[in-house]
Amino acid sequence: MFRPTDRYFQGRTAILATKHGKEQAIAPLLARLGVRVVVASDFDSDRFGTFSREIPRRGTQEEAALAKAEAVLAQTDADLVIASEGSFGPHPQFPLLPSDRELVLLVDRRHDLVLRGEVLSLETNFNHATVSNLEEALDFAERVGFPEHGLIAMAQADPLPNTPIFKGIQSAEQLQRAIATLQTNCPTIHLETDMRAHMNPTRMQVIAQAAADLVQAMAQGCPQCGWPGFVVREQLPGLPCELCGAPTGAIKASRYRCQRCLHQVTVPVPETVADPSQCSFCNP
Ligand SMILES: [Zn+2]
Ligand SMILES: [Zn+2]
Repeated sequence: MFRPTDRYFQGRTAILATKHGKEQAIAPLLARLGVRVVVASDFDSDRFGTFSREIPRRGTQEEAALAKAEAVLAQTDADLVIASEGSFGPHPQFPLLPSDRELVLLVDRRHDLVLRGEVLSLETNFNHATVSNLEEALDFAERVGFPEHGLIAMAQADPLPNTPIFKGIQSAEQLQRAIATLQTNCPTIHLETDMRAHMNPTRMQVIAQAAADLVQAMAQGCPQCGWPGFVVREQLPGLPCELCGAPTGAIKASRYRCQRCLHQVTVPVPETVADPSQCSFCNP
């Protein structure tokens, strides 16, 4: 049902706004569409906000990613830019579990087009702990995939200005040194997972999933006008109950819509009935 989008992207170069090695996750996927990914030179993504507190992020995740893309567009003559932004916190449906939402944006100046790839994953080591000695620190470290996954150490979760923050800790020796320095002022130490992509292979994989979602959006052209990004915009509930036939909350169809001409196509799910456990009459 999709029109090919080769003429939009094939043979182009996209500049990636990162300084944390995200090209490992993103470039191989974009290569499938014939797009070469080049890392922006001298791009300091930290001025758009850091996970380690020095600079708070402004605006939403989407606004932060767009601001990075706009900065690259302003400082180069590129017409195709990719930027990404992660966000960590409780999962919206399972608030006791930490989640990682990754967004990868593509801004195409030549076609005045913005496309997005997104994934919400429970695969994350996002975590923190208060410890008072190296043994407790190593205990926490082991639970969060250290040393492949880096750690950040500071005196407290809300560090005072001009107090040291140790980032990118990837060995027991570095951890020991950080603790020794911090303990000259404070008996306990706040440890947390370093969520920067190059310090966190688990996050890197989730970024790759978001990039795959972006590549899918890029490849799906509108059946009517050919514009890329013909993706699902809406999920329609109401799949009938297998037992009584009443509509349930289960999804019965996905609705694709074109951003440009607003053409839409509704695709029913393969199932024709919902399990009675999802029915508010049969399973109140
Ligand atoms: Zn269209
Ligand atoms: Zn029913």
